[in-house]
Amino acid sequence: MHFSTRAIHDGQEPEATTGAVNVPVFLTSTYAQESVGVVKFADYARGDNPTRAALEAVLASLEDAEFAVAFSSGLSAVDAVLRTLQPGQRVMMSTDAYGGTYRMLTNVFGSWGLRTDIVDLSDLEAVASSWVDGTAMVWAETPSNPFLRIVDIAALAELAHARGAQLVVDNTFATPYLQTPLTLGADVVVHSTTKYLGGHSDVIGGAVVTNDAVLAERVKFLQYAVGAIPGPLDCYLVMRGIRTLGVRMDRHQENAERVVAFLSGHVDVERVWYPGLASHPNHDVAAKQMSGFGGMVSVEVSGGAARAKWFVERTRLFTLAESLGGVESLIEVPASMTHLSTGGTLLEVPGNLVRLSVGIEDAADLVEDLRQALA
Ligand SMILES: *Cc1c(COP(=O)(O)O)cnc(C)c1O
Repeated sequence: MHFSTRAIHDGQEPEATTGAVNVPVFLTSTYAQESVGVVKFADYARGDNPTRAALEAVLASLEDAEFAVAFSSGLSAVDAVLRTLQPGQRVMMSTDAYGGTYRMLTNVFGSWGLRTDIVDLSDLEAVASSWVDGTAMVWAETPSNPFLRIVDIAALAELAHARGAQLVVDNTFATPYLQTPLTLGADVVVHSTTKYLGGHSDVIGGAVVTNDAVLAERVKFLQYAVGAIPGPLDCYLVMRGIRTLGVRMDRHQENAERVVAFLSGHVDVERVWYPGLASHPNHDVAAKQMSGFGGMVSVEVSGGAARAKWFVERTRLFTLAESLGGVESLIEVPASMTHLSTGGTLLEVPGNLVRLSVGIEDAADLVEDLRQALA
């Protein structure tokens, strides 16, 4: 089956006893046992919940994977993957990444004994030449946050595997609609389902997806043993979002192209970062491994940080807010908002950078809003 058919049907068959077309939200913490230790579905809802199982089934299907494990946030999914490592091992991550992942690696797992090396993962020669023994995991985001850099997943997987390391891809920005990293050779996919998968800015969630049975079992164990599970209503909301992912993503991209065309010609915009632009440094790799370029756009405005602040405070439709991937357009200044924790590090971003999550409103209204805000 094709993508949107799977998004709407996989894991979501009509409910057996009533025929309800939606997966029920199973609000239960425990399950009656038929006799001691004999259970119908599970013994306790931290371990298993049918609504969560349905979400995990559709997530696995969309990533062309065997296993998906849902979490209460993107960061708890990241946490579970990092917990599969041992103290003393190293993680290589990019110069351009979600600030929270960097913060977890350094401020949480640093004292636990993980070492983090920062390398521009879109530069494969740099990855090879700066490789340190003991690197067990390469952590890539593509498109990355906030510069929308592209990492060649197949080439990086080969390079990591040749050195005995696993490749994790945070697929939050692309979603499985635009790219399936596991089919390109990655070992693990991580998601913040809070973003495009949920799609309506009404839920926080995360997921780990893989074909590696041993790793999946460990992550499933961590979901149970550490306990960062998503509630059943949250699982339902993510699943409802997933059902329209294809149509939403098409519109996000169409609108992003209109916004990019407008901003590229604007006198007060120094540079537009969008993987669909031929001028983007990794455009060829993006065109090779993605079926579209997504709905995220970053721009550097002239006039520095003060002008960036002025710009984002004057939009009327684009809401000044962190996060991304919802139906409504959002705008933010990474240096003082989402990426504040990277200040003074190799991941620091310039103050004149503005990140836009282009929503699915009418493109003409979005362009007009940006025009008046920049005027
Ligand atoms: C938001 C985000 C996360 C963290 O997810 P939460 O759901 O906020 O915990 C991780 N990676 C990327 C790329 C994100 O955008």
